Amino acid sequence: MLMPFAAKGGRVLRVYNCVVSEHDVRLVILAALICLVSSYSALRLFGRTRGEAGLSRLGWLFLTSLAAGVGTWATHFVAMLAFRPALPTAYEPALTLLSLFLAIGSMGLGFWAAASLGAALWRWVGGAVVGAGVGLMHYTGMEAFLVPGHLTWEGGYVIASLLLGVALTAIALGVTGKGRRLAIASTILTAAIAGLHFTGMAAVSITLDPAIFVPQRGMESGVLAIGVAAGALVILGVGTLSLLLDQRSRDAGEQRLRVLAEATIEGIVITENDVILDANKSFCDMIGLSREAACGMRFARDVLGPALQTHLERGSVDRLEGDLVRADGATVPVEIIARAFDRAAGVNRRVFAIRDLRQEKAAERRIRFLAEHDVLTGLANRATFNERLADALAHAFDQGTSVAVLCIDLDRFKEINDLFGHAAGDAVLVEAARRMRHALGPNDILARLGGDEFAIIQPGGLQPQGAVALAQRVMEAMRPDFEVAGHAVVIGASIGLSIGPEDGAEPDRLLANADTALYRAKSEGRSSFRCFEPEMDSELRERHALAAELRRAIAHNQLTLAYQPQYNIASSELVGFEALVRWHHPERGSIPPSVFVPIAEETGQILALGDWVLRKACRDAASWSRPVKIAVNLSPAQFQQPNLPEIVRGILQETGLPGSRLELEVTETVLIRDLPRAVSLLRRLKALGIRIAMDDFGTGYSSLATLQAFPFDKIKIDRSFVGQVETHPQAVAIVRAVLSLGRSLGMGVVAEGVETAGQAKFLAEEACDEAQGYLFSRPRPIEAFADVVGLPPSTSMLDRAAA
Ligand code: C2E
Ligand code: CA
Ligand code: CA
Repeated sequence: MLMPFAAKGGRVLRVYNCVVSEHDVRLVILAALICLVSSYSALRLFGRTRGEAGLSRLGWLFLTSLAAGVGTWATHFVAMLAFRPALPTAYEPALTLLSLFLAIGSMGLGFWAAASLGAALWRWVGGAVVGAGVGLMHYTGMEAFLVPGHLTWEGGYVIASLLLGVALTAIALGVTGKGRRLAIASTILTAAIAGLHFTGMAAVSITLDPAIFVPQRGMESGVLAIGVAAGALVILGVGTLSLLLDQRSRDAGEQRLRVLAEATIEGIVITENDVILDANKSFCDMIGLSREAACGMRFARDVLGPALQTHLERGSVDRLEGDLVRADGATVPVEIIARAFDRAAGVNRRVFAIRDLRQEKAAERRIRFLAEHDVLTGLANRATFNERLADALAHAFDQGTSVAVLCIDLDRFKEINDLFGHAAGDAVLVEAARRMRHALGPNDILARLGGDEFAIIQPGGLQPQGAVALAQRVMEAMRPDFEVAGHAVVIGASIGLSIGPEDGAEPDRLLANADTALYRAKSEGRSSFRCFEPEMDSELRERHALAAELRRAIAHNQLTLAYQPQYNIASSELVGFEALVRWHHPERGSIPPSVFVPIAEETGQILALGDWVLRKACRDAASWSRPVKIAVNLSPAQFQQPNLPEIVRGILQETGLPGSRLELEVTETVLIRDLPRAVSLLRRLKALGIRIAMDDFGTGYSSLATLQAFPFDKIKIDRSFVGQVETHPQAVAIVRAVLSLGRSLGMGVVAEGVETAGQAKFLAEEACDEAQGYLFSRPRPIEAFADVVGLPPSTSMLDRAAA
């Protein structure tokens, strides 16, 4: 019996009839659903191959083929279950299985080609291969279909079914993508599979053949149903699994991004149409709000300063610097990098990276400050001073006005520094800077040029009156005692000033002239000020000339020694001489040591000079038949030589003078510099049998403590006290105190500068040990004392004075 499915009418109608009249429509719908789900899964998985490589892509391709192959296969067989030809039907197991593997394999090949072979065309070609795979599966599956009869095929429908399947599948893979495109492609793929199937079914006719007995040869539909259900489960499983995997990797990606965003020091903000969607902790800290509070705010309007706002609204720039406005109203300097990452119609999503420039700006300010200022006092430094002075001078030229420069030197700073240490010295400088700052006018610039050297620029004003008034204010400010390490100390300041452009048209000249004036002020006594005068310049040159001539004088042995005798007051006996250096200049005549000794000290010639004096004094003394002692003055600079004891010992050996006849006079400044060092040096000198006298006692800072620290052999009371004992009761008190101090410490006391018999009498009454002064003798060449040093004295000098 012939059982044609054919109906009269059009081909499309025939397919329609095939579906509606020969099939159980409910199962057809189920098949379509399975097809849709598997198509969607397969294409979605296919989408995941994008951006993947190697094994990972192969893995996704395998899942894709599994979902597509199993899906198509299940669709086919559910559709076959829906097929009700009113005959016993069954399925050949091997072919059924083969059709499944063919589906997976051939479709896999197509997907691979579409995913891996680069060019866009390959997606369509690959799609066609997938479509062919659907056909292969369908017709192999039909081979497994057993009915009691023969199947015959109408070629046109078969070809149409294949063309339809191949074309639609190619389109599906061609258009597939994300979102809507995925949905459209899934629908097209479903249409491809279903179309192929039902067009293919429309091609089939069954010719009954009672000789063929169906159930014995194949599995029943019920068994197939189980297989199909399992297949559907596989698709669902694969689909769900991929979804889960996807979600997890997306979650992991988001997690990674969040960690990254939180780990960056930069603030990160994501906005949509300027509304903050998300922000990291750094940003929230920067503006002083919680994340919850920050989200929902308007970024440009609420957070950015006005300048940044307009920049950002213009939108063209993607890197800007400006200010953020914190919740508390304070501003934060920042650098912002903006990136638009999604600019769909009407939606403007941007991400901002925001760098906090506060530390950078603070460091910049600090560096600039350090470059321009003195760290200790916070005043302008020398470089800044020079710049400002150049500006002020240029301005004075332009305006026809003046600018004054004041050089200021703290009078007793070096002593304080030596005596109380650097920390105390620093404190004095800070306090001095503070006081001077108060004395300034509004336009004056105070700078510390180094050490205890300060300078002021006073621009404009009536000069020199303005500068003189300022100098007086500064000196006035420095007058009160400074508190140093618990002591009240007088510091005082000396000031030299010059007025530009008259005293100097260049900054260097003007400053140098103020310095010359300062030098003059200092040499005239402490706490005074001097205005620069052109003669000062020549005086300074004179000094330089004198220094050069002194060098020659030392080298050419033009110096001589004068000797001033010292007497025991009680016995009137000559006890020794003090050696005092003399310079008879061939043209200038006699130059006093108070002039050239300081020059020698300033120019470093004092070592050679001191060496000469010591050697000459020792040689002279060694030649005398009367072994009186000889006192030699030592400058502080000589004390800076660590090998001084060796030098002295060398000279003693060379001249043959016993150490016990030599007395070295030192001032307390040698102790102040570095007491432990000085004490050890003095001890080494004393070890040579030499005696040490403290010169000019009472004029400095000597305290009982310094005296006790080093047991001097002798104290020389300064002549300023001795000269006043007849007129000033205070001088009497001081001399008495020194005498009792000497007695209690076991040190002899010498009074210097004794000029009158009254003074000598007073000293005798007070039991002073020794005396020296014009009363007895001026310092004279040793020849004047030839008889004294050669023979015992015939008459007592004291008696002669009294006569
Ligand atoms: P000094 O060490 O205090 O020396 C004593 C000074 O007082 C000497 O001045 C001396 O001439 C002076 N004199 C002595 N008796 C009287 C007096 O009765 N009345 C007055 N008014 N003065 C008196 P001179 O020689 O001009 O020396 C001044 C200073 O120069 C010395 O003060 C000393 O510090 C320094 N000096 C002199 N010779 C040397 C030397 O060879 N080496 C070093 N380093 N310094 C020296
Ligand atoms: Ca002396
Ligand atoms: Ca003296």
